Amino acid sequence: MNEYDSSKMLDLMRSERNMEQTEDVFSADLILLNTCSIREKPQEKVFSQLGRWKDYKKNNPNVVIGVGGCVASQEGEKIINRAPYVDIVFGPQTLHRLPKMYDDVLSSRKSLVDISFPKIEKFSVLPKTPDIKPSAFVSIMEGCSKFCSFCVVPYTRGLEVSREPEGILDEIKDLVARGVKEINLLGQNVNAYRAKDKDGTKLKLADLIDRVSLVDGIKRIRFTTSHPLQFTDDLINTFENPKLANYLHLPVQSGSNKILQLMERKHKVELYIDRINKLRSLRPDISISSDFIVGFPGETDSDFQETLDLIDTIGFDQSFSFIFSPRPNTPASEMEDTTDYKIKLQRLGQLQSKINENSRHISKSMVGSDQMVLVEKKSKKTNNQLSGRTENNRWVNFDGHEDLIGQMIELRITEALPNSLRARIIN
Ligand code: SAM
Ligand code: SF4
Repeated sequence: MNEYDSSKMLDLMRSERNMEQTEDVFSADLILLNTCSIREKPQEKVFSQLGRWKDYKKNNPNVVIGVGGCVASQEGEKIINRAPYVDIVFGPQTLHRLPKMYDDVLSSRKSLVDISFPKIEKFSVLPKTPDIKPSAFVSIMEGCSKFCSFCVVPYTRGLEVSREPEGILDEIKDLVARGVKEINLLGQNVNAYRAKDKDGTKLKLADLIDRVSLVDGIKRIRFTTSHPLQFTDDLINTFENPKLANYLHLPVQSGSNKILQLMERKHKVELYIDRINKLRSLRPDISISSDFIVGFPGETDSDFQETLDLIDTIGFDQSFSFIFSPRPNTPASEMEDTTDYKIKLQRLGQLQSKINENSRHISKSMVGSDQMVLVEKKSKKTNNQLSGRTENNRWVNFDGHEDLIGQMIELRITEALPNSLRARIIN
């Protein structure tokens, strides 16, 4: 989500203020730091990063420094109090006001803070991106209303708001007309998508996917990320649509019902297993990935064992897993946490190696198979090699001419490496 937001900031300043991106921060007129506060560590880095720019700003008073994203949304004015050389503080929902804020700071030389949540106004003003790649993110909703006990998102990004379908479809049609083949529908909980089209027809994510799949030229659709509670039958049935990639990211966080309840996830492990079983009756070989939080307050060895058992039951292919990080103003930050950090680290290592083992196993089982791959770029390592992604989100490197970039081609997988696959073109 932050990568998407950063690309939008760049698009805006390019199209509205004729700016260009520079690789050298110390030649910039405007320095933007897009921040994340989902865990404590990235948040801590904000002030050390700003500190590196303090002297540059002192010697170049016309340089404007802006801080955006969720730390900005959470801390607001406090950022300016602690780092007075920061000129602009803006939140994820006000990034579209950046050009105007930039002008105002230049004319007034006063710092500005705007971390409000104007209802989805940003999508109607964001410019078209000039950066066309074979795969593109398209934001369909913003914020989250789930209030899991550990999470800052509802406070920093606001409540769930869905974007109107016509705007989404117009953006996708334009991207596809300019060469994009794969669309990843983006939001904190895309399956909370609820909107009405101009005729008043109600749309959920499943309906939106149906409409997106009818866009001429679109080859593959993904969506990121979803909540198990709203992973309902209509969405499961959408997987009959062959354009939906054979990959699902559905975060479960823990395999213990006790911990899920403390997390206020509002469902049990059994619901998760049931949903995945239903999905697998349509797509037996679909890859499933999840987020996990290890060491949540109150997590015992046996709770953690239940998470390991769930990993065996589901056979997760990948995960984003982290140790619980207490976040300001969240109920979980007040919960008693007696587990030693060393034990949490051990649990995290155990969980990650189990999932890595699954992932290696799945990669090996793909050797000899033929896979549809969207060719995305030249390989970083060798000049005459290209890189693309399989439906189950694995990078594949193979020999081929760069004219193939942007095409969907069939490859025979020849080798499974720890972080990628090798393949050759079939015909
Ligand atoms: N909406 C998605 C869901 O409900 O699963 C996830 C979006 S959340 C921004 C991304 C992930 O960050 C979560 O799935 C969770 O694993 C992790 N996360 C959020 N708050 C956390 C915290 N306080 N400590 C550790 N990890 C956290
Ligand atoms: Fe955070 Fe996801 Fe829970 Fe929303 S559903 S509060 S984004 S973890």
